[in-house]
Amino acid sequence: MTRTTPPRPVDAEALFPALAAHRRTATRLHPRPGAPEAAESSVAGPLLWPAGEPWPVCTAVHPKGTGHLLSDVRERRRVLAAAHGRDLTPGEHRLLDGMAPGPHAPHLDDADPLPLLAVAQLRTRDVPDLAGPGGCDLLQVFWCPFEVHGPDRTIDVVLRWRRAEDVGAVLAPQPEPPVAGRAECVPTPCVLHPERVVEHEYLGLLGEDLQEAIADWEEGLLDEDDDDDGAPSGAGWATYEEYAAAMEAARAGEPDEIDYMSDLSLAPGWKVGGYASWHLTDPAPVDCPRCGKTMPPLLTVGTWECDGASRSWVPAEDSPDDPAAVDPVGVYLGRGLMRVHTCPDHPDAPHRLTFQ
Ligand SMILES: [Zn+2]
Ligand SMILES: [Zn+2]
Repeated sequence: MTRTTPPRPVDAEALFPALAAHRRTATRLHPRPGAPEAAESSVAGPLLWPAGEPWPVCTAVHPKGTGHLLSDVRERRRVLAAAHGRDLTPGEHRLLDGMAPGPHAPHLDDADPLPLLAVAQLRTRDVPDLAGPGGCDLLQVFWCPFEVHGPDRTIDVVLRWRRAEDVGAVLAPQPEPPVAGRAECVPTPCVLHPERVVEHEYLGLLGEDLQEAIADWEEGLLDEDDDDDGAPSGAGWATYEEYAAAMEAARAGEPDEIDYMSDLSLAPGWKVGGYASWHLTDPAPVDCPRCGKTMPPLLTVGTWECDGASRSWVPAEDSPDDPAAVDPVGVYLGRGLMRVHTCPDHPDAPHRLTFQ
């Protein structure tokens, strides 16, 4: 099934022609739980990885054997998905209670190489906003699922570009770490339904005149709707239940409030390309270490494919009441958003991560 983002509720560039200079395309990946094949673009699916090539490993020194068993994380999600809309049975309760984090892989020492977790595989034939270094048409994304790396103590992301036609025999089975530091570092295998959309730059990075014009327009809309209760803010929710409660509250209020940030600017969820949102911090410089130019987001990992503030982005084929359409991947990094930035002119220069 394809996924179709509804047209924006108003034509932003007709209202504000200066926005045309702040337009970029993004490809929403629309991940949905499934069983992707190695040749497909996917989240957490098998990779087109050459049988003879070593799998990437984390060589940083940190505890690697204590955490959540990946098999537990997947089983828990399977049980909860199957029980959506009803109470858990006593048997299901007992099963979930038995899945505690702990020293599940005591044989792993801190300095042992740890296989990285396959997070995403993206092919340029599927993802129009994906542009790789010369001739590469396949991006493979890994991370070490322990939030202990670097000064900001985050997951460690590794990118591998290659040419799909060079892969030959595919490695099977494919390694993975036995445990993850946090269950929300483990993506659920998903098939993708890529769709290209237009984004406009984050409000705080537009020129002052444009920001003022947009603020005036939004105020005018509010005046027309003076008894509006408003939708919940775009902040992430910690659980699906909190999200569902916020959605219900939003539906009880005025359903049709429009604003730039929610409806005309940035698409939610997993995507390639587009712009970065800085709604929790001031915009931070993300400059290429080679040329100094701002590095745009290559990949955005967004927990919520839609939320109370981005209801207008819910694909026509989906319901905002379906957990598999709202939080299909189960990954929660930062406060809901993690981005991998690369320089289009220097794709082999080190990438940078930013969080919101
Ligand atoms: Zn690591
Ligand atoms: Zn550069």
